[in-house]
Amino acid sequence: MKEKIMGTFSAGVASMKKGMKDSVDSCKLEGKIAEQQKLIKKLTKEIGNLAIVRLEAGDEMCPEIMERYQAILEAKAEIESLEKGRKVVKIVCPVCGHKTSAKMNYCGKCGAALRENENAAAEEAAENTEISENEEV
Ligand SMILES: [Zn+2]
Repeated sequence: MKEKIMGTFSAGVASMKKGMKDSVDSCKLEGKIAEQQKLIKKLTKEIGNLAIVRLEAGDEMCPEIMERYQAILEAKAEIESLEKGRKVVKIVCPVCGHKTSAKMNYCGKCGAALRENENAAAEEAAENTEISENEEV
């Protein structure tokens, strides 16, 4: 009787241990599957980018791809024409070269004051104007 109880008990422990191991394994499994899916996604994107490079070099591909590439070209042309209408003027930071909206007082990257510089540039331009005026007179 005692042996039977002990047997049932150890069987229970074994099945509990197995259950824990299974859940750890299935967790690992999920992680590995996700890892592979992520890899597929990355490679799919890379194939797309490589195809674009070939298309830009002038390669012809199947009509399904050519159609989509045409749509990309049209979207790029659309962006170009939209950008012409952009009111935001960008100025280049004299310290780090980062492009920041001209409305900003300080560089968005390094924090250098942009206004002072713009005023200095304006003053310089004014001086140049004066000189050219003097030359004319
Ligand atoms: Zn800067």
